[in-house]
Amino acid sequence: MTVMRAAMLRAPGPPEQFEVTEVEIPRFGRDEVLVQVRACGVSSRDVVERNGTYRRDVTFPLVIGLEISGTVVECGQDVPDLRPGDHVCSKAFSSCGQCRLCRTGRETTCSRRRPVRGGYAEYVVLPWDALVRVPSGLPFEETCGLGPAGGVALNAVRDVARVTVGETVLITGATGGVGWMALQIARLSGARVIAATRDPDRRSSLLEAGADEVIVIDGPDFSPQVRTLTDGEGVDVVVDTVGSPVFGSCFNSLAVHGRYALVGQLLGEEISINPARIFFKRASLLGVGSVSRAQLADVVDLAARGQIRPRIACTLPLDDVVRAHHLVERSALFGRVVLAPSPSASTE
Ligand SMILES: [Zn+2]
Repeated sequence: MTVMRAAMLRAPGPPEQFEVTEVEIPRFGRDEVLVQVRACGVSSRDVVERNGTYRRDVTFPLVIGLEISGTVVECGQDVPDLRPGDHVCSKAFSSCGQCRLCRTGRETTCSRRRPVRGGYAEYVVLPWDALVRVPSGLPFEETCGLGPAGGVALNAVRDVARVTVGETVLITGATGGVGWMALQIARLSGARVIAATRDPDRRSSLLEAGADEVIVIDGPDFSPQVRTLTDGEGVDVVVDTVGSPVFGSCFNSLAVHGRYALVGQLLGEEISINPARIFFKRASLLGVGSVSRAQLADVVDLAARGQIRPRIACTLPLDDVVRAHHLVERSALFGRVVLAPSPSASTE
């Protein structure tokens, strides 16, 4: 067996640019792993890599897809902790393990980090560092997004914002991939969770997922609603997965000594703020990015114990890749859109 099916991009463009075709199965090196792809989430990075907006390390022809889960087929001789047959999921970047940043617990900013790609195919070769073993009982559809969504949420809530028992946390974009997981992890941390969304139809789902309160955004500043819910004090922590459109509301919602964790920016626009407002409030503005291998392993444990659960909107065969990208681009669905490049993705 030397060939596989893959959704190839020969140039940037609209979703119709994908061509599902037969290509060579890639070869693996000493520190790499050949994985049979059972599920690959369609992420917003996939969309901007496809349409040409994201150009870093992008050369065509290209197979994209970074939210990968599947089964290990073969391992290079230097792979320390994975074996054929293991179920694995990926993070969005691999790191070198050697540089100063990697050696000081800051691998997400590794100077030699490489983006994970290639999940829109039956097989992919990845550095072992980008993969974490998952229990075989977890569905591939659910594990594929644990790194880019759950891992980033854990990084934001537990390790950057350091949410703790009794605090109040505001989460924006709470029905998005990261927001959905951040809400569950903040709740697990013992915090009171206020979830913000623009869609009133999603209120009940957010409450079921663990939100204590839900704010439906219907104007330019929703901070009065947050103030009302917090006896005028505001929240201890904001986990913001939306960015500039809600920055003003979020900062106004922040209590004195509050921590503002910036996780996402959906648009290109700037924000402005009088610096005095930051120091008068003694606020901390915190940048959150990516996920380490250890954090991903912790998220896998939470998922294995049933303490967090991603929301899957639909699982489609690789031949439906064009449709999958239209669905994600239009934000048409509530939950992740997942491709299943290899057969029997949901049954094994
Ligand atoms: Zn490094």
